[in-house]
Amino acid sequence: MPRDSRYDILFEPVQIGPVTAPNRFYQVPHCNGMGHQYPSSMAEMRGVKAEGGWGVVNTEECEISHTSELSGVIESRLWDDSDIPVLAKMVDKIHAHGALAGIEPAHLGAGAANLYSREIPMGPSARPIDLMEPVHARAMDKADIKAFRKMHVDAALRSKKAGFDIVYLYAGHDMTTLMHFLSHTRNDRTDEYGGNLENRVRLLREVLEDTKEAVGDTCAVAIRLAVDELKGETDGISARGQGREIIEMLAELPDLWDVNVSGWDNDSAPSRFSEEGFQNDYIRFVKSVTSKPVVGVGRFTSPDTMVSMIKGGLMDLIGAARPSIADPFLPKKIEEGRPEDIRECIGCNMCVTGDFLCAPMRCTQNPTMGEEWRRGWHPERIAPKSADESVLIVGAGPAGLEAARALGQRGYEVTLAEAGNKVGGRVAIESELPGLSQWKRVADYREYQISQMANVNLYLNSTLSAAEVLEFQADHVAIATGSRWAPNGIGRTNRLAIQADPGAHVLTPDDICAGTSAKGAVVIFDDDYYYMGGLMAEKLRLDGYEVTYVTPAADVSHWTHNTMEQRRIQTRLMELGVTIVPLHNLVQINADSVELACVYTDRRQTLGCGTLVPVTMRDPISRLHRDLVTALGRVEGAGPRSVSLIGDCLAPGTIAAAVYGGHRFARELGEPPAKGVPFRRELPLLATD
Ligand code: ADP
Ligand code: SF4
Repeated sequence: MPRDSRYDILFEPVQIGPVTAPNRFYQVPHCNGMGHQYPSSMAEMRGVKAEGGWGVVNTEECEISHTSELSGVIESRLWDDSDIPVLAKMVDKIHAHGALAGIEPAHLGAGAANLYSREIPMGPSARPIDLMEPVHARAMDKADIKAFRKMHVDAALRSKKAGFDIVYLYAGHDMTTLMHFLSHTRNDRTDEYGGNLENRVRLLREVLEDTKEAVGDTCAVAIRLAVDELKGETDGISARGQGREIIEMLAELPDLWDVNVSGWDNDSAPSRFSEEGFQNDYIRFVKSVTSKPVVGVGRFTSPDTMVSMIKGGLMDLIGAARPSIADPFLPKKIEEGRPEDIRECIGCNMCVTGDFLCAPMRCTQNPTMGEEWRRGWHPERIAPKSADESVLIVGAGPAGLEAARALGQRGYEVTLAEAGNKVGGRVAIESELPGLSQWKRVADYREYQISQMANVNLYLNSTLSAAEVLEFQADHVAIATGSRWAPNGIGRTNRLAIQADPGAHVLTPDDICAGTSAKGAVVIFDDDYYYMGGLMAEKLRLDGYEVTYVTPAADVSHWTHNTMEQRRIQTRLMELGVTIVPLHNLVQINADSVELACVYTDRRQTLGCGTLVPVTMRDPISRLHRDLVTALGRVEGAGPRSVSLIGDCLAPGTIAAAVYGGHRFARELGEPPAKGVPFRRELPLLATD
C-alpha cells in the first residue's frame, strides 16, 4: 500500500549542515548496554534501525578519553585510534541502508568514577562526583581545559575517520563536563569560564568552534542541550531562563539543535508518569530562536502526532530512542501505508535497565532487541515453518500471544485458547492499574497481528483441561497459563510461609485487581521490589484506604531504580499520604494486626492491619501441564510431539521475559537444538605476550 499522503511531510529530506537526512525520522543517541563490550551486537542493532527507515541513527554517549570513563557501565568508546574500527562497523551498517550515522562524543567529568583507568575525575569546580562513590573530582585548570578541547577535536577527527556524518557536542542530562560548566550550581569558577552565563557558555562555544573547524566541512556538528532541568528558574537551567539564553547565544553556530529536558530520568520519563509529547512545552521556544534544524523527543509513536510536531513548528526531525527500540521498522511501516502494524513503545523503561545492570538491553515490546547479531533475530523477518504442523497454545497472556504471533508468521497452523473473555493475561489486568494504561499495547499489537493471520485462530472463554488439550491432537502444545501471586508471604526475605492467624484478612494483588474489597487499614508487604507493591499502595490509597507500605528494602519499589521510576513512585506515595515503613520484615500475621521486625536489630513493632496485601512471589499456574504429563504417561506413543511451558507458568518474571519466552519458543520450534551456547559471543582479544 502506498503511504497516506498526510504523512508525506515525514519523508522530506532535511539539510543538516553539510549532510542531508533522507527523512525526518531521527534516532537520537541512546544507551544500550552493548557499546564497546558487545560492539557487533551494537552495530547490528543500529543497522537494523537504518534498515527500518530511521534517516539518522546515532550512537550512545561515546567516551572520548580514558580520563572520563564509566566502567562497568557499558558505553561506546573512542579513547584512541584503536576504537575506530569498532565504530566504523556500526557506520557501515547504517550507511548500507542510506541513513546518516551520528556520534555523541562525551566527557563525563564529575559524572564518572574512572574505576578502570584510575584517573582523577575533573570538572569545572572541585566537588564529589555524582555517583555514590567515595571519589571527588578536581577543578580543571587552564592546561586541563586546553587538553579537554583537544580531546574533543581528536574525538571529532576520529569520528570523521570512522565515517560519521554527524558529530555531537553533548551538554545534556546533567551528565557531561560541557553541561557542568553551564550550570551555576556546579561551576563556581572565578576565571573567564565561570561567573556569568556568557562565561559559563565559553567552553561549549570554544569546543563548538574547534569541532566545526576540525570536521565541519564534511560533518554536521550538533549540540544536545538540556533546555530545562525541571528545577525551576533559580536552581537550574530552564526553558524560560538560562536554557533559552544559551540557545540565543549560540543560535546559528551548530548545524542542529537536539533539545530535551534533564536529567535522564526526566528525559526518558516512563508512561506511568508522562504522556506522549511530554517535553513539548519545554522545547517549543527553540525554533523561534534558531533557523537551524531542531530535533526533540517525547516517546512519539503516532504518525499523526509526528506530523503535528512538524506542522506546529516544534521540531524539524522527530527524535526517538524508545519508539525506535520497540519498533526499529516504525518509519518503514508508515512509508508502506501500514501504520497499524507499528509496535508501540509502552514506556515501561525495561530498556533503560540495560545501562544500569550493565547488560545488553531488552525491550518488552521487541523481543529481538539485542539479539540481532548474536542470535540472528530480525524484528520483522523469521524463518518459515520447518514442517506442516499445528500448534495449540493455551493462555493468551504476553507469552502465549507472542508465541502465536511469531508462529503464525512462520506459517504454522496455530490455535490460541484463552480462558478469559479477552486476551492479554496479566497485561490486560495490570494495565487497569494507575498509570499503566499504555502497557496494554503489548496485547493490542499482538491481538491485531493475529487477527490478520488466517492460520491463527483465537478462542476466548475456553478453559482447557488436559483431556481437551489431547483431544485437540495438535502436533505441538505450548502451555502459557501464567502465574498468580502467593498469599503466604514466602519470598526473598521469608523462605517459609509467615505464621498467620486464620482470621486474618489477606488479599493478593490478583484479588485486588479482580475487585475484591479490602477492609480496614491496609498493610502492603513488598518483598518483590518491582512495581506491584508500590502500585497496590497507590491504588488502595486512591480507593480511600489508610495504607502502610512495609518493605525490607531501604526505599519503595527498590528495583525501579533500574527503570528510573523509583524517585517518582516514592514521591507519589508520600504525596498521597501512604505511610512508608522501610527496612522491616513481616514476621507474623494476626487477626487485626501484623508484627514487623527491623531487618538490622530484629526489634519488633505491631501495626494495626485490617487487610494484608503480601507482594512477595508468584506461583506458576502449572496444573494443566502436570495433568498433561500424567495423562501422556498413561498412553505411550500417543499425544503431541512436544509439550512446552512458556512465560510465567515456567517461571514468573517480567512481561519482557514472558514476551521473549514466547518469541524464543516460536523461533526454535522444529529447529535443531543449539549445540553449546545458543548465541554468538563477543570475546576480548587475548594479548600475545
Ligand atoms: P504470561 O505472562 O506467561 O503470558 P499471563 O498470566 O499473563 O502469563 O497469561 C496467562 C493466560 O493464560 C491468562 O490470560 C489466563 O486466563 C490463561 N489461562 C490460564 N489457564 C488456562 C487454561 N487452562 N486454558 C486456557 N487459558 C488459560
Ligand atoms: Fe518502550 Fe519498554 Fe521497549 Fe523501552 S522496553 S522501548 S520503554 S516498550
